[in-house]
Amino acid sequence: MSNLKLVAPMKGWVAPLDEVPDPVFAERILGDGVAIDPTDATVHAPCDAQVVSVARHAVTLRAANGAEILIHVGLETVALHGQGFITHVREGSTVHTGDPLITFDLDFLAGKAKSLISPVVVTNGEAFAIVRRSSDRETGLGEFLMELQPRAEKAEARGEGGEVSRQIVVRLAHGIHARPAAVVSDAARKFASDIEFSAHDRRVNAKSIVALMSLAIRKDERVTILARGADAQAAANTLADLIENGIAEAPEATPQPVFAAPAAPLPPNTLRGVSGAPGLAIGRAVHLKAASFDVEETGEGIARETLLLNGALAMVRHNLETLAASGNRQQREIMAAHIALLDDPELTRAARDAIETGKSAAFAWRKAIRAHAEAFRMIDDARMRERVGDLVDLERQVMAALNGEAGLTAKDIPADAILIADELLPSELAGIGTIAGFCTAQGGPTSHVAILAAGMGVPALVSTAGVLDVAEGTTLFLDADSCLLHIDPDAAMLEQARGKIAARAKHEAAARAHALEDCRTADGTRIEIFANLGAGADEARAAVAAGAEGCGLLRTEFLFLDRETPPSEDEQAETYQAIADALDRRPFKIRTFDIGGDKPVPYLPLPPEENPALGLRGVRAGLWRSDLLKMQLAAILRVTAPVRIMLPMIASAAELRAVRAMLDELRKERGIAAQPKLGIMVETPASAVLAAQLAREADFFSIGTNDLTQYALAMDRTNAQLAPQVDAFHPAVLSLIAQAAQGGVAQNRSVGVCGGLAGDPLAAALLIGLGVRELSMPAASIARVKDAVRGITLTAARKAAQDALQQDSAEAVRAIAAPYLPSAS
Ligand code: PEP
Ligand code: MG
Repeated sequence: MSNLKLVAPMKGWVAPLDEVPDPVFAERILGDGVAIDPTDATVHAPCDAQVVSVARHAVTLRAANGAEILIHVGLETVALHGQGFITHVREGSTVHTGDPLITFDLDFLAGKAKSLISPVVVTNGEAFAIVRRSSDRETGLGEFLMELQPRAEKAEARGEGGEVSRQIVVRLAHGIHARPAAVVSDAARKFASDIEFSAHDRRVNAKSIVALMSLAIRKDERVTILARGADAQAAANTLADLIENGIAEAPEATPQPVFAAPAAPLPPNTLRGVSGAPGLAIGRAVHLKAASFDVEETGEGIARETLLLNGALAMVRHNLETLAASGNRQQREIMAAHIALLDDPELTRAARDAIETGKSAAFAWRKAIRAHAEAFRMIDDARMRERVGDLVDLERQVMAALNGEAGLTAKDIPADAILIADELLPSELAGIGTIAGFCTAQGGPTSHVAILAAGMGVPALVSTAGVLDVAEGTTLFLDADSCLLHIDPDAAMLEQARGKIAARAKHEAAARAHALEDCRTADGTRIEIFANLGAGADEARAAVAAGAEGCGLLRTEFLFLDRETPPSEDEQAETYQAIADALDRRPFKIRTFDIGGDKPVPYLPLPPEENPALGLRGVRAGLWRSDLLKMQLAAILRVTAPVRIMLPMIASAAELRAVRAMLDELRKERGIAAQPKLGIMVETPASAVLAAQLAREADFFSIGTNDLTQYALAMDRTNAQLAPQVDAFHPAVLSLIAQAAQGGVAQNRSVGVCGGLAGDPLAAALLIGLGVRELSMPAASIARVKDAVRGITLTAARKAAQDALQQDSAEAVRAIAAPYLPSAS
């Protein structure tokens, strides 16, 4: 492969990256390159390339030889949300040297951005070295900027062989967040090969937990594992296997659904926050203040500072290991993630580099941590921003160790304390003995400290403005379920709170004790509680053990992901039969492949689409590749158990008729007399609105609230920024569910819900009140939902549903539903 020359993408002054006043670029966390202080307002292509991604303020290109180049216009320009920028290209566009990519308003940016200086960096530096670069001079558009040399040639010259790659889809509930990243980076370090993870058009070192987390890989996203070296194949296979099967996530580690409190005016002496962990607590305010340390910038020699840093890291590691050994599983996992961060090659390299330039150990560690924290903050993903808390935690622990503090011993805190802090760190919570609850001014609902709290059964509120003003020792009633902190409540409220706490404890115990029993409302209406499956027979057995009365949704597209060719009929029949056997003749709904949209699969490449969620997906993709759908139907027909077939994304009766015709033809061909029930998922507004007609031909309905919400609200379910608003409690979604249920019930069809709403106990009364009689959910939610259903009468549920339909916001609907939760009584 020949070298690639990049030309200046804009007119301006070229400067080394070290001069960029942002550690993310100056420390080359995103890659090496140069910066340009622009004197002109258009970014042009520096080479012939394809546009990999384009945000208004930044563009990433991939040249024909694979080099990836990020051009970031100005600093902290992401905060402008596109104001002042016009993009001329879109993802996937082919561009030629000099083509305009982005135009920006130079004057506007000069006033709003931290700086106009624009880094141009090579993001896959592991594959390309910069062998020549322009610097410290004025450049005209199109003049020489950098020359890149492929590194692969070097590896080949060393006889290390080619690159091995494995593609997988991450099924972990919270994606590759800190704990899985710790496990993966730990395993990666055991191999001699260079190993990288590639996703979102970036490649990072898999041996670095920080780098892995910075990819912000979410559930159901695809990642490629690339390994180079003597044990490359084994490394790629081991890591793929680990992510697919080896990282168990405890169901109790899942943060509880978080909801904004009703927007009603706050009662006096009450603060509103965000629920970090559910529950209620009465206790006394105890303030926890973070220690602050003075840091000398200049060190006393490389050898001494290195020794000091090593000693502090060893002490913190020992403290964390002690905490992990005495904690529960979540505590162990989180402490393990912190230990992996301490050993992270990128982080420790940055600290050691700083020591080598004459800095003190404390200064070097703080600088390294803060640069990485800043990089996390820049990632457009709320979960990553919350990981900043883990880095801050490690900064403080190492600082404490460098200052000779033992740290992390259990603090002298009473068991009825409700801790008040600006931010509580995971190690602090783990190091504290028993407490009643906590309330912080900062923090988010998916932070590690919130997950730890949920696992420890400690009610918690985060992001609570004003909490730091609460006086030490004040009596508090923390109602994390309603997102409220009551300050100095009167006797009547305290008594009511004690009643609620007792009722809640009773309900939780009952929920666990009765999870295996059939489920009925308080007045005897049978509600079937099923599990959503997508992993195979073992998962089905676990679901039955957790109380599932059957399977309401088998996401078949998840069963055969890691392959380039479609699964054969035999293979599918065998897999479905194994799940049916595990379900032991319980009801079993198999959904035909829901491929496309947010669920692409390698063996069925779909044509490029502008809007995949509105394109060839679900039953539409099935009818487009009718050979695959027919093979799947044939496999399902071979299962010797009572199965039902369910079609995803139905928008019209014609689609259902087409599949029924296919099924009838197959039965005829194979001489099968039995006619399995053929139902539809109601997940498009069209099918909900036309439910009365569809019910004449569909044998059953299962409402997919995940997609129904995305399509009703026209909000992408995978867009992290919209996540708080893509809320199935929105009255418009409920109204569609009501129409679907009415249409189904009028024709005597069974109506279920298998989207995320079914697994939320708060929704049980509403759904039952609207006519739903089957709820299918992740197995971890079954006990709580059964408990919620048992506390509701049909009359009350109908009233709740009718009231909810009159509301004008999701918050108002939640407020209507809240009193129907058994633990609220
Ligand atoms: C849904 O859309 O609610 C659903 C259950 O299907 P999936 O989440 O698999 O798209
Ligand atoms: Mg769906």
